[in-house]
Amino acid sequence: MFDKILIANRGEIALRILRACKELGIATVAVHSTADANAMHVRLADESVCIGPPPARDSYLNIPALIAACEITGADAVHPGYGFLSENAHFADVLADHGIAFIGPKADHIRMMGDKIEAKRTARALGIPCVPGSEGGITDDEEAHRVAAEIGFPVLVKAAAGGGGRGMKVARDAESLSDALSMARMEAKAAFGDDAVYLEKYLEKPRHIEVQVIGDGRGGALHLGERDCSLQRRHQKVWEEAPSPALNHSERERIGTIVARAMQELQYLGAGTVEFLYENGEFYFIEMNTRIQVEHPVTEMITGIDLVNEQIRVAAGVPLSIRQEDIVFDGHAIECRINAEHPSSFRPSPGTITYYHPPGGLGVRVDSAVYQGYRIPPHYDSLVGKLIVHGRTRTECLMRLRRALDEFVVDGIETTLPLFRALVRNQDVQNGLYDIHWLEHYLDANG
Ligand code: ADP
Repeated sequence: MFDKILIANRGEIALRILRACKELGIATVAVHSTADANAMHVRLADESVCIGPPPARDSYLNIPALIAACEITGADAVHPGYGFLSENAHFADVLADHGIAFIGPKADHIRMMGDKIEAKRTARALGIPCVPGSEGGITDDEEAHRVAAEIGFPVLVKAAAGGGGRGMKVARDAESLSDALSMARMEAKAAFGDDAVYLEKYLEKPRHIEVQVIGDGRGGALHLGERDCSLQRRHQKVWEEAPSPALNHSERERIGTIVARAMQELQYLGAGTVEFLYENGEFYFIEMNTRIQVEHPVTEMITGIDLVNEQIRVAAGVPLSIRQEDIVFDGHAIECRINAEHPSSFRPSPGTITYYHPPGGLGVRVDSAVYQGYRIPPHYDSLVGKLIVHGRTRTECLMRLRRALDEFVVDGIETTLPLFRALVRNQDVQNGLYDIHWLEHYLDANG
């Protein structure tokens, strides 16, 4: 097992990783920018190293500074969390060159899944059902029109290097396809420095359902069920739950088994999420994330399995602590991503938290790195914390979530708490009747 892990991240996920390390008896090193000198992850770690000025490219994305921090502290492994360098294959390679373990998948698998065209090709070869679309990248207008005619309108132009919902454009008919293509290309070039795009059938009313996997890198891999992340704003998840209100036991088993088998064949190492759109009883692969995800706690709450602990184990070459038959899904869990944003305009609201009171009680978990008097810096994402609630049934979970949201006090800044208080009382949400567009329509009608 590792002796000392450097956590190459900040905020709630840095704390989350720290907690797993402490429970494994592993020493921790926090890194931070000058803007984060007072951050909770720095206070709670055994050691800390300042790695640069506030902009992420000079600190949390600064590979030479991170390698130096490992060497100064003698860390033998790095956990990248999510975002920042978590899906950067080059970072994994550089760490390997320095004899430091990367707590994540093999660099080749990160690279493969980071290119969505390559990811789809691989998924198809592994027997995972995919959204109908172009076989590879689309290079000219003529080809785009031919493929679109084949799969039928509407179609979606997507960036091969895509992430965060950027570089996606819908074309409803042949007339708008050329514009969608050039706009997606431009956006992709600006956001990712890569203008490769591909074409997919645009699904009108799907749900977003993703399967959590973990592999030991030697052909052992299992699935931990699904999460339903259909409540989204601008393709960004807002509310996540497990199990999905839309799936029954046999559908869950079917997709879980397909994904686990595929990961066994790939000899996948570490935690990963295989994302699907689900419509009319069919699953369609869209992408795979080769990291721990923001919403991983909902899976932990219904399985009792610590995913970060398992990630660290397999990275160190220690066998998984569980077998597929040990995984039992118990009850229901929901996560709300509480952001420092105005609850209807979603304008960022950085500033000082003057009063902070998180909820508690049975089945309530708050993953957050803020505290009373903490000043949210303007340089990073706006996540204040995640409220995750568990109940024996979905109804119990919703009632518990309602009371936990009402207990939660964050003063001094604006947060999205009021949005969640309204959502938990909404009839469609209560009935689990929502697709990926539901929240946008709701916000248009209630903004
Ligand atoms: P990103 O990596 O940018 O998050 P994804 O491929 O994961 O991109 O897609 C993000 C979201 O965009 C999905 O959750 C879904 O809401 C929407 N989306 C993606 N592909 C399609 C599609 N073929 N049809 C309809 N919506 C889609």
